[in-house]
Amino acid sequence: MPGGHQWRHRFRENACRWTMPREVILDVLSRASRHMSAKEIYASLYAACPGTGLTTVYRTLELLQRLGFVRKFDAGDGQSRYELRGEGTQDHHHHLICTRCGKIIDFRDFIEEELELVKKTEDALAKKHNFQILDHNIEFLGLCDKCR
Ligand SMILES: [Zn+2]
Ligand SMILES: [Zn+2]
Ligand SMILES: [Zn+2]
Repeated sequence: MPGGHQWRHRFRENACRWTMPREVILDVLSRASRHMSAKEIYASLYAACPGTGLTTVYRTLELLQRLGFVRKFDAGDGQSRYELRGEGTQDHHHHLICTRCGKIIDFRDFIEEELELVKKTEDALAKKHNFQILDHNIEFLGLCDKCR
């Protein structure tokens, strides 16, 4: 896998014709200001890389998710959204998701309190189920200001 931010530089220098789809997708996600669905990623790939099919996009996203580069989560509209995973607590955030229009709001509020509670919960769960917890995901579903 590409290390650090190297793939970004490499991407700029090279044509996507011979760039691995995963690098192109990582680049698309790194420039996205919001969470993207596979179809949106596909659409923004299409202009630059018409050779990449939707199936490849799905398969690549699954791979990137397994490798921990990308986080996948469900929006209320039945389409999974993807975002680039940052490292460390600086990037740690969760989501408010509108189940009517699919709007996704990142939030970092109460992060200190949350981490304390989550740490406690994780320790207990890990012990009880002999399970190594690597990450967690908190989503609140509801209606945004426009949909209320
Ligand atoms: Zn958290
Ligand atoms: Zn809404
Ligand atoms: Zn997010």
